[in-house]
Amino acid sequence: MSTLTYEYEPKTLSPQATKLRDMLVSYMKIVSRRLPDDVNKKLVELSKIEVDPLQELVYSTMKENQMLAEKLKRPSCQDTGVVQFFLKVGSNFPLLAELNDILTDTVVQVTKEAPLRHNAVQTFDEFNTGLNIGKGVPNIITEIDGDSDKLDMYVYLAGGGCSLPGIAKVLMPGEGYEGIVRFVMDQMTSYGINACPPLLVGIGVANSVEMAAMNSKLALMRRVDSVSPNANAAKMERLFEDGINYIGLGPQGLGGKKSVMGVNIVNTARHPSTIGVGLSVGCWSHRRGRIILDKDLNYELPLNKGVEL
Ligand code: SF4
Repeated sequence: MSTLTYEYEPKTLSPQATKLRDMLVSYMKIVSRRLPDDVNKKLVELSKIEVDPLQELVYSTMKENQMLAEKLKRPSCQDTGVVQFFLKVGSNFPLLAELNDILTDTVVQVTKEAPLRHNAVQTFDEFNTGLNIGKGVPNIITEIDGDSDKLDMYVYLAGGGCSLPGIAKVLMPGEGYEGIVRFVMDQMTSYGINACPPLLVGIGVANSVEMAAMNSKLALMRRVDSVSPNANAAKMERLFEDGINYIGLGPQGLGGKKSVMGVNIVNTARHPSTIGVGLSVGCWSHRRGRIILDKDLNYELPLNKGVEL
């Protein structure tokens, strides 16, 4: 048994930073047990399409799972994932300098209070920190959004069976968009069943392997029923949705008419001789939240109607 331990020394936060940390702890506890509105709506929609007894049973079990998660105030799934934050923050947001400390301490507190399963293993030293933080964890991906004074943040519990085992590749010149189709369908037919369908499929298209991977993850932050603003990408989303449904994974991979909740593509520009493609999938228990805050910490929760912190 390993005797290594992780020493966490929480930073002293300012009063406003403490207030934000406490708000985020409350919100993340909700995110861990209550699915976002778009996912709930889609699961209800899909459950009405799957009318065979086995599929009906799976959907009614998912419904009961969510009801009990709320009643018992417990996470929706035993795998509470690795916490990933995707931030757009203005350079005038007053707590910019403290954000990393706020988010790290939030994860430590939520881990105790939710509780979240301990999922941060220090690589090479191979011990679990027991706090859901470690070197580079939580993942905090930050984009500075000009001189605004707002914070717009997604929080995502990325599961070890769904979106953490993503994949990305730069295709050979000449493989073109057909190469993207081949890559995605190969992955979905071999791996999709493991990720607890129905799935939200995120596809990233870009110049390099890391940009494609990041785009595929950002695609999972979009609503399940959203459509790419690019007409060609939107068409590809529809075709992929039909194609992956055709595989017939069904709920929990037990067969059925629908394999996906949606397919989202996020694309950025590429080099003339490269086309990178990334794939990440979210499972039916797609625990992602979004919080938008102004400089006085007034908040909106666009994915969780009626929730107050
Ligand atoms: S894929 Fe999702 S629902 Fe399945 S075990 Fe992982 S986190 Fe839970």
